Amino acid sequence: MEITHIEHIGIAVENLDESIRYYEDVLGVKCYGVEEVADQKVRTAFFKVGDAKIELLESTDPEGPIGKYVEKKGPGMHHIAFSVKDVDGALKEAEEKGIRTIDKSSRKGAEGLSIGFLHPKSTKGVLTELCENKNK
Ligand code: ZN
Repeated sequence: MEITHIEHIGIAVENLDESIRYYEDVLGVKCYGVEEVADQKVRTAFFKVGDAKIELLESTDPEGPIGKYVEKKGPGMHHIAFSVKDVDGALKEAEEKGIRTIDKSSRKGAEGLSIGFLHPKSTKGVLTELCENKNK
C-alpha cells in the first residue's frame, strides 16, 4: 500500500471538554473541530500538529468500542491512522497478506474521510486505521 503520512493519532479520553482544555491550555494546540460520529458512538475533537492531527475520542455509549476500551484499559493512546492513496485497495492488500482487518471495505469516518481498520492482533499490537480523503 502507499502511505503518504500519519493522518492522526487517536486518543481515548474520559471527558472530552476537560481533555480539550489540557491540549489548548497546556500544550497550546487549538481545537478546530468537534464532531459526533454516531456510527462509532464517539464524540471527537481535532487538533492540528504540523501535518498530523490529534483525534480525541470520548465515548457516547459505554457499549461502544471506545467505551469498552476505556473500561478495560483506561484512557490513553488508542490508534494510529495513516493516510493512504486508496483505502479499499490497501484493505484488500492487507487481507491478501494475511492481516486481519476489522473492515472489509471502507466506511465513512470523522471529517468525511473514508476509513478502514486493521486488527491489533495482526499489527503488532497497534490498532491501525487507514484513511483516504476522497473530498480533495
Ligand atoms: Zn481515527
